[in-house]
Amino acid sequence: MVFPYYKKLSPAQKRIYLKSDGIHEVPLPDAKALHPLITRLISALEHEDRDRTEEICRGLAMGLTSQLCVPLLRLKVLAVRPITGSEELHGLYELAEGRTSAVIILWMRTARHRRVVAFRSFLRTLLHEMCHHLDYHLYNLPDSYHTEGFYKRESSLFHQLLPEA
Ligand SMILES: [Zn+2]
Repeated sequence: MVFPYYKKLSPAQKRIYLKSDGIHEVPLPDAKALHPLITRLISALEHEDRDRTEEICRGLAMGLTSQLCVPLLRLKVLAVRPITGSEELHGLYELAEGRTSAVIILWMRTARHRRVVAFRSFLRTLLHEMCHHLDYHLYNLPDSYHTEGFYKRESSLFHQLLPEA
């Protein structure tokens, strides 16, 4: 199944879309090595500790990028999610484009109630932004689309990092 915006893409973009849609898994060579970080992340979020959350997410980003042999990226965890239009921004991926590395920005509090984001949705956001990075650097796609395959890759990482989920 392709998403409705597929129809509006150019033939070159459609090729990128279909390639992205065809990859369903991101096998990690050693997911287990990252499990202690997951446990620490749950606790850091429970304690609403931004510094520690950021440090742990950087560890996760480092572990994932090194296991998958893609360039390291910078990662920032900020406080309250910004609102763009009517949507709350959960995370952001910015390509390196002239900088030394790509950047992932995550927000740990919801815009409306300023509550700390639930652990699972926070981890999903981190993995979602990481999947954009993998599109460019692991699969060498010229663009990164939200395809069904993209969301399957996000889930694939999620279930390796959180096997009981
Ligand atoms: Zn996205």
